[in-house]
Amino acid sequence: MAKTSHKVSSFLHSNQYLLALFFGVIGAIVNLYPIELAFSIALVVGNTAYILAASFLRPGLTLLCALISVIPLYFYWGHPFGFITFGLEAWFISMLRARGWYVLTADLVYWLLIGMPLTALLILSNMEFAQSFMLFSVLKQAINAMLYTSLACILLFTFNDYFQSIKSSQPPLVKSLPKWLLYSFWSISAFFVICVSLVLSTNFSEFQKAQLEKELEINNNYITHIGNSYLNEHQQAIENIAYQLSNMTDLAERQKALSKFHNLYPGFLTMLIATEQGEIELASPNSIMKKLAVDQRSVIDRPYFIHAMKEQELFVSAVFLGRGFGADPIIAISAPLYQDGRVTDPSGIVEGSLNLGNFGLYDKIGHDEKLIKTIVTDQNDRIIYSSDSLQLETLSKFSYEDRAYKNSSNLISLKLEENEDEGEMFIHKQTQLMNNWKIHSLIEHKFSLKNIEDLYLVMFLTLFVTLLTASFFAKRFAIHLSRPLRFVMDELSQAKNTGDFRDVPYETPTEIQKLYQELKLNRLALLKNQKELENQVLERTNALNQANHKLTEQANTDTLTRLYNRRYFEKNFKVMQSIFSRNNSSLMYAIIDLDFFKNINDTHGHLFGDYCLVTVANMLKKFFNRDSDLVARFGGEEFVVVSQCDDVEMLRSRMDKFLQQIAGYEFKDDDIGPITLTISVGIAVGKANYSNLGEDWFAVADECLYDAKDNGRNQTKITVIESSAKASANG
Ligand code: GH3
Ligand code: MG
Ligand code: MG
Repeated sequence: MAKTSHKVSSFLHSNQYLLALFFGVIGAIVNLYPIELAFSIALVVGNTAYILAASFLRPGLTLLCALISVIPLYFYWGHPFGFITFGLEAWFISMLRARGWYVLTADLVYWLLIGMPLTALLILSNMEFAQSFMLFSVLKQAINAMLYTSLACILLFTFNDYFQSIKSSQPPLVKSLPKWLLYSFWSISAFFVICVSLVLSTNFSEFQKAQLEKELEINNNYITHIGNSYLNEHQQAIENIAYQLSNMTDLAERQKALSKFHNLYPGFLTMLIATEQGEIELASPNSIMKKLAVDQRSVIDRPYFIHAMKEQELFVSAVFLGRGFGADPIIAISAPLYQDGRVTDPSGIVEGSLNLGNFGLYDKIGHDEKLIKTIVTDQNDRIIYSSDSLQLETLSKFSYEDRAYKNSSNLISLKLEENEDEGEMFIHKQTQLMNNWKIHSLIEHKFSLKNIEDLYLVMFLTLFVTLLTASFFAKRFAIHLSRPLRFVMDELSQAKNTGDFRDVPYETPTEIQKLYQELKLNRLALLKNQKELENQVLERTNALNQANHKLTEQANTDTLTRLYNRRYFEKNFKVMQSIFSRNNSSLMYAIIDLDFFKNINDTHGHLFGDYCLVTVANMLKKFFNRDSDLVARFGGEEFVVVSQCDDVEMLRSRMDKFLQQIAGYEFKDDDIGPITLTISVGIAVGKANYSNLGEDWFAVADECLYDAKDNGRNQTKITVIESSAKASANG
């Protein structure tokens, strides 16, 4: 089980398309259940998913994720605006995130610059009914967005370990400590400010809703009470006068009683008495009789006459508009009259036309006309009375659309003007009068929304102020937190090689103190190491130099005689030759060979031979001791000397002197000797520029040596090279 879930997550993490789909579907599932607040406001939380996705995905895929998340909202709201505003939001913040923006900042910028104006524009051009609460709608969207974005940021912070493992196409956010502090402050404060505000505003809205409903109920009860007693009172009145009139025969007396009654009940517009034949006999006010022509005096066709005569009981007519006495709705209340003790055969009727416009009087008393509107309809739903501000036509049919939502069951939409597409929204309460008339009390939905709109405005401003305050505090906190760090860094960066690091002079978290301690120790250890290493390198270099020196010495010297060897000689001959040549000096090249040395070896042994070689070498070195003299062992019992020579004769005498020195020396050791030996010398002398090749000089000197040997040994032969001879040949 754990294995499969691991497989799924690693698969998701590697495929960006699947990641977008995954986040999109999660968002859509959450968006299936918007959180309902008061007054049909739904809070969207699923969009958190694509905000999270924006931290990992490129704009295109984030947009895809958002479009999937928003699908349920399309069905919930019934319009596709979410695809536009939220899709753009997702794309926008992913873009800014790729440029190193923090998602909350990006989202704030989006809603201020694009989201809110765009929402307003969409509402303006498409949703007439929503225009009345546009500010509210726009603020609601922005606040909602801040909520799900800050939630996403908090999730990113809290579950950072998990999110880190997602393969992200977005660059990592590299921010300073103050920035990180600022973002965490923002996310957390925004989230909590919105949550608390929403809870409070919802509570307030619920409270307000209950309050409004109570007001509606009070109004309804009041009007019902007034209506019932108004009708009751006037029905009673007609019954009473019918009873009184039944005992009167004199017309003048009847007229007097009628007028008196009418005075008592001014709610009747007119009152009249009609005969058995349906002829108006008396009326109040009196003047009516004069106004009515004779042919207008018959009421025989009127329901109130027919009913009262036939059924012989109190009759209340349907509502109608008064004829000729103004446009007020009227009901006729009539009762039969009995005369001369006749109890089953009415002698006529008495009728009162009750003015229903008077409801208005009661409606207005003690009530804020702006807040609560009243409509009274008869049993056929025709409007008997409506508050003036509604401007509804009397006796027109009262019709409305039920717009009940889940938690606002009493919302209706009412068309106040014929040409309106959408009616106005009202909170509605209805009760019934005893005669089946209905009382409707209404409060404009706009009014309650206005309060919430104000609340949301306050919430938005609070949010703004909170973010500003958070910025300030984050900065202060960051300074406070990073100061010890900066001190530690400064202290460590100074190249101190002793332990004299200062203590941190500020309030310091223990972690930083530990880090400082650790770094101090490390630094000291490092310095110590470095010093040791330097010393070691110095020692090694010295040893190496010595070894090198020894090596070159060894490479250049002959081990037996300690003279330079042939290798060194040949190398240095070239240098000497070129220097002499530049100075236009002469050079002498001498080969010195021991005479009959083989015999000495053979007679006295190789070791004694060696001794002789070393002795001759030492004498040679002593004799040719100028800095510029080059003395070397050429090989075997042959030596070579190269030196500057300006005077050949002097050279010759010097060489003779050396020959004598050798010939006069007694060679001996503990057992052998003393013996003497001689040397032969061949010398080439000439301008140094004669040749830069050692072989050329050697050849001439070797020739001389051969001559010397040939000529009896123990002598020097010198050849002076004419400078033109070889120099020109050598070019
Ligand atoms: P000449 O007068 O013609 O030069 O006769 P020579 O015997 O000196 O010449 P030859 O070339 O016949 O002999 C040279 C000898 O020098 C042969 C060799 O044993 C000896 N010799 C060469 N190198 C060394 C050395 O390093 N130590 C010793 N003890 N003898 C050496
Ligand atoms: Mg030799
Ligand atoms: Mg020899």
